[in-house]
Amino acid sequence: MKSQDVRSKFLSFFEDKKHSIVPSAPMVLKDDPTLMFVNAGMVPFKEYFLGNSEPKHTRITDTQKCLRVSGKHNDLEEVGYDTYHHTLFEMLGNWSFGDYFKKEAIAWAWELLTEVYGIDKDILYVTVFEGSEDDGLEMDTEAYDLWKQHISEDRILKGNKKDNFWEMGDQGPCGPCSEIHVDIRSAEEKAKISGKDLVNKDHPQVVEIWNLVFIQYNRKANGSLETLPNKHIDTGMGFERLCMVLQGVQSNYDTDVFTPIIREIETISNKTYGNTNKVDVAIRVIADHVRAVAFSIADGQLPSNTGAGYVIRRILRRAVRYGFTFLDKKEPFIYRLVDVLSKRMGDAFPEIKSQKQLIENVIKEEEQSFLRTLDQGLILLNRIVEETKNSTVSGEKAFELYDTYGFPIDLTALILSERGLKLDEKGFENELQKQKDRSRAASEMLTDDWTILIDDAEEEFVGYDTLEANVKLTRYRKVTSKKEGDMYQLVFNLTPFYPEGGGQVGDKGYLEDVRGDVVYILDTKKENNVIIHFAKNLPKHINEPFKAVVSDEHRNLSASNHTATHLLHQALRTILGDHVEQKGSLVKPNALRFDFSHFAKVSPEQLQEIEDFVNARIEGKLPLQENRNVPMEQALEEGAMALFGEKYGDTVRTVRFGKSIELCGGIHVNNTSDIWYFKIISESAVAAGIRRIEAITNKAVRDFYSENNRVYSKMKALLNNAKEPAKALKNLQDENAELKKQIEGLLKDKAGTIKNELKQELNDINGIKFLAKKLDLDAGGLKDVAFELGSQFKNLFLLLATEQNGKALLSCYISKELVASKDLNAGQVVRELGKHIQGGGGGQPFFATAGGKNPSGISDALEAAKEFVK
Ligand code: ATP
Ligand code: MG
Repeated sequence: MKSQDVRSKFLSFFEDKKHSIVPSAPMVLKDDPTLMFVNAGMVPFKEYFLGNSEPKHTRITDTQKCLRVSGKHNDLEEVGYDTYHHTLFEMLGNWSFGDYFKKEAIAWAWELLTEVYGIDKDILYVTVFEGSEDDGLEMDTEAYDLWKQHISEDRILKGNKKDNFWEMGDQGPCGPCSEIHVDIRSAEEKAKISGKDLVNKDHPQVVEIWNLVFIQYNRKANGSLETLPNKHIDTGMGFERLCMVLQGVQSNYDTDVFTPIIREIETISNKTYGNTNKVDVAIRVIADHVRAVAFSIADGQLPSNTGAGYVIRRILRRAVRYGFTFLDKKEPFIYRLVDVLSKRMGDAFPEIKSQKQLIENVIKEEEQSFLRTLDQGLILLNRIVEETKNSTVSGEKAFELYDTYGFPIDLTALILSERGLKLDEKGFENELQKQKDRSRAASEMLTDDWTILIDDAEEEFVGYDTLEANVKLTRYRKVTSKKEGDMYQLVFNLTPFYPEGGGQVGDKGYLEDVRGDVVYILDTKKENNVIIHFAKNLPKHINEPFKAVVSDEHRNLSASNHTATHLLHQALRTILGDHVEQKGSLVKPNALRFDFSHFAKVSPEQLQEIEDFVNARIEGKLPLQENRNVPMEQALEEGAMALFGEKYGDTVRTVRFGKSIELCGGIHVNNTSDIWYFKIISESAVAAGIRRIEAITNKAVRDFYSENNRVYSKMKALLNNAKEPAKALKNLQDENAELKKQIEGLLKDKAGTIKNELKQELNDINGIKFLAKKLDLDAGGLKDVAFELGSQFKNLFLLLATEQNGKALLSCYISKELVASKDLNAGQVVRELGKHIQGGGGGQPFFATAGGKNPSGISDALEAAKEFVK
C-alpha cells in the first residue's frame, strides 16, 4: 500500500465514525512557554484537555507533524542509528473530547489495523497499564477486559508507568495508555525468542506503532493527580512505522516515504545505501533531517542563534556533519533534496510545495556558512594539534573549539584519532556539564498550580472597544524563576489587556481596587488560549472587583505601528510584486519590524516609493473597517492572506484600511491619520531570500527628525554657519586629502635622508651588521627603512623603535641568512623585547613588530637588543 493511501485510509476510516478531519497544526509553537515544538498529536488540542476552551467537534481525526528534538521527548541522538525513530514524523490520531472513551477507541483501533489494513493478528501485541504505587493507581482492568474481546490473553502484556502512563510534561492532562506493538521478524527469528519478550526492549523489528491514551487525570505541580471531570481519548500512530509494516519492509527508511530521498542522496554523493554501516547512518541522518528542517522553515521558523531557531540550526548542522565526514560532501548539497521532498509530500502538506524556493535558499546558505565554520575549525584544530606536547588534547581546548567556534566534538575526536592523538573526553564532558548547569540554573522555573477563585469562569476580551473595565480575578498562580524572581499570573473574567500576538507586544497597565491600592500589570500573554496578566505582586484583596486600566500611550503607539505594518505589507506587494510574503513581524510602541520573502536588496528608490505609498494612505485618512467574525473562506475570497505557521479558527477577524485587508487579531488605529507619518529606518537581509524593513511612525518620527535637526545645527555651527554646509564640508574633505598627500611626500623624503645617515651608523658585531635606534618615523616609515637597508646589506640585524601618540613601537629585521645560520626569529625577539615596553607582538622570522604602552622602556629594549646580539 502506498504511503498516500495509508494516510487517506486512516482519515476516511475515522471520518466514517463521525470524526471531522482537520489539517495538521503548525509545528512551531507560539503560545506555550512549556514547549517549543509540537511533539505529539495532542499538543494542538491542549486547550481543550485543559478546559480553557470548547472544541467545535467532539470527534476529530488528523495527521500531525511532530518534532522530537528537545525537552521531555527528544529522539535526536537515536536518529540515523536506528531504523524507526525520526526527528520529524507524522502522527495519525483520532480524538474524543469528552465523547467516546476506551471501549470505542480500542474496538476501532483493532478494526482499522486488522480489517482495513489487513494486518495479521498474530504479529500484534498490546499493553495495558499495570498500576503504580507512587500514584496510588490500580491496574487498568477496564482496558484489559476490553482487549480480551479482540485478542488472545497471552498477547496482552502489562506495562509500567514509563511505558503505559502517558504524560505530555511535568504538569497537565495525562492518563494510562495501551500501546500496540508489531513483531515483523522472520518465522525463524520468532522461533528463537518470542515477540512477547521483546516488546518495549528496543528491538528494531518489534516496535510500538500506536498508542491509545486514555486521558482522565491532571498532574498537579506537587506531583499529585486529580481526576478530570471529562474523559478524553488521545491516540497517536507513527505513520512511517505503519507504512513499514504495510509495505512489508524492515525499516522506516525502506518505505516510499524515504526511498526517493535516499536515491537522491546516493546520486549526489556517489555512495550506495546498504553497504557500510557508517555511510548508511549518514544517509539516514540526512534523509531524516532534511524533512525536519524543511518543514520548520515552511512553518516560518528560520535557523537562528536562539530558541527554536537554534534547535533547527543544530539539526541541519548535524546533517551537514554526517555528510562532511562520511559522504565526503564538502560543499552544500542538502538543499538539493528539497525538490524530491516537495514532490513526495507537497500534496498532503502544500506549505512545502509553495515555499520550495525559499526553503532551498535558506538551507543552502546555512550549509555554506557552517561549512566555512568547519573549515576554520579545522585550521584551529591543526594549531591545537601542533601545540599538543603529549599525546592527549585537553577537554578544555576541545570544548572551546565546540563552544566558541561551533566545531562538533565527534569530528574533533575523529580527526585526533586519525592523527594518533587522544582526546580527554572526560574533561570535555566536564566542561559541557558545567555549561549545562549554568544555563539550567538561569532558566529554572517553578510553576504553582492555579488557585481557582471562580469556577468555570469564561474569559472575555473587551480590549478592541475599551482600555478600561471592571474585572474580577478568576484564578492566579505564582511562577518563580532565577531570571525574574517571583511573578504572579492573573486571569480575569474579562479584560481590556491585549495579549502579545500577531507580532504585537502585550499591553501594560494597572489594577486598582476600591481602596485605591494599585498593582501594575507588566505584560500580557496568551497561553493555550488563556489571557494571562503578569504582575510582580498579588493584589491585596483578591476577591473584590478591580478597575483594570491599559496604558494608553504604550497601546496607542503600538496600534500606530501595527496599522503601518499592514500598509507596508500592501506597499511591498504592490511595488515589489506578489511574491512578497510576510515572514515575521514585531510591533512595539517605538518601532516596527517586518520580514518578508524577496530575492534581492530593495533599492533606495524602491524604499522611497514604499515610504511614499504608505504616507499617501496616512494622508488619505482611511478609516478602520473591522469584522470580528468572518468565515475563513469568505475572508480569503475578499483578498486576505493566510500565513504559513499560523493557526486559524473557522471564523476569523479581518482588518481593512482602504484596499489593505488582513487576517489579524491585533490592535489598530481608528483612522490611518492617527499614524501621523511613516519613516523607513533600515533595510537588510535576515537570511537567504528574506529581507527586513525597520521603520517608525508617530512620535518616534518626530523624535527622529528633531534629533537629526539637532545634529545638523551643531555641524552647521562647526562649519561657521556656512550658507551651504554640504559644500563647505566637501571643501574641507578635499583640502584634507591634499594635505595628506603633501605630508606623505615629505615623510618619504625624510625617510630617505634617515636611511643614508643610518648606513653610516651600522656596527659590526661578530660579523653581524647591527643597529638599534629610536627614530622619528611612523610604523610604515620604520618598515620602509628596514627593508631598504635589508636589500643593501647581508647579515643585517636591526631593531628600530619609535614613539607615536604616547605608544611605543619596535620593529625587528633579521636578514634571511642570519635567520637560517643562527636559528634566529624576529618574532621571538620582539616578543622578548616587547616586555620592556609593556606590550607584545609577532610576525615572521625575518621581520616582526611589537607595540606597547610604555615608551620610556624603549631605551632598555634597544640596550637589550645589543646585549642579545653580542
Ligand atoms: P518509542 O518507545 O518507540 O520511542 P514512544 O513511546 O515514544 O515510542 P509515543 O509517545 O506513544 O511513542 O508516540 C505515539 C506513536 O508515535 C508511537 O507509537 C510511534 O509509532 C510514533 N513515534 C514516537 N516517536 C517517534 C519517532 N521519534 N519517530 C517516528 N515515530 C515515532
Ligand atoms: Mg519515544
